[in-house]
Amino acid sequence: MSVGEDNKVRCIRQTHLLTFDVEHWYEGFRYRGIDGWQAFPPRDDQTVERLLNKMSETGQRSTMFFTGRYAEEFPHVVRRAAREGHEVASHSYSHRVLSRMGSIEAFREDLSRSVGVLEDTAGCKVKGYRAPKWSISDMNYLEVLNVLYEAGLEYDSSVFPNLLGGSSAVFPHQVDLGNGTKIWEVPATTCPFFGLRLPVGGGLYFRLFPSWLMRKTLSSCQSNSQPSMIYLHPYDLDASCPHLPGGNPMFQWLRYYGINETRDRLGVLLQHYKFCTVLEYLREKENCLLKPTERISNDQSSCSS
Ligand SMILES: [Zn+2]
Repeated sequence: MSVGEDNKVRCIRQTHLLTFDVEHWYEGFRYRGIDGWQAFPPRDDQTVERLLNKMSETGQRSTMFFTGRYAEEFPHVVRRAAREGHEVASHSYSHRVLSRMGSIEAFREDLSRSVGVLEDTAGCKVKGYRAPKWSISDMNYLEVLNVLYEAGLEYDSSVFPNLLGGSSAVFPHQVDLGNGTKIWEVPATTCPFFGLRLPVGGGLYFRLFPSWLMRKTLSSCQSNSQPSMIYLHPYDLDASCPHLPGGNPMFQWLRYYGINETRDRLGVLLQHYKFCTVLEYLREKENCLLKPTERISNDQSSCSS
């Protein structure tokens, strides 16, 4: 490692990225055509309020990728998240996977609608996007990234790790869009395992794999001076979430597996590791890529609360 590279690495304080895909609890059922969720009273505001309470108690901040539909139904939750220092980002308007949107124009419309709703609600600019169900590969990757860039976004976080490895970068990196423009990509965290990459970073995998594996992964990232990127849904933390019958038995099993322990598991991570928003991390990383004389002070680009 050169002196310059070492200086860049040391410039960034060690933090991890905690992200939530904030959508209605029934999206997975709706996607599979399973009805019955309509009969239950709204609960998604309460699950996220409890989550915000926990974050506040521990002094941690996260990036929350809201769907536009969620923001329209629970605007007070979006406003509270923004007020308490969490980053408000887009998880699409309708939570349709990109293949169901059908065209890049439809994707552009869905993105624009979600960004409009979120910015009007939160009163701040949206800078990040995560595709529903990590479906960015349903369309031309660079074409989608260009639409994000044209909409004023600074990063995408929609790349789900490839189990078999491959050459794709596993940590936050810039993607060249051509014409001298770049956008950040922030992939979900993986754990190397006998030539495979285990997607331990969140969702059902967070519930499925033993908690020591997650802690080992975070520590491994720290020793490489890189952040891990964890993702969860509010329903992953909602042990009282209604059970709906129907659909694939494997889906049913994975949907609820380990759901009673997720809150405690997250609580342990919040106590032992420092988290910040994706945008805070990228701001600090960009600052570190500048010459020392061009950098703004750490206080102004702080990732800590
Ligand atoms: Zn989602």
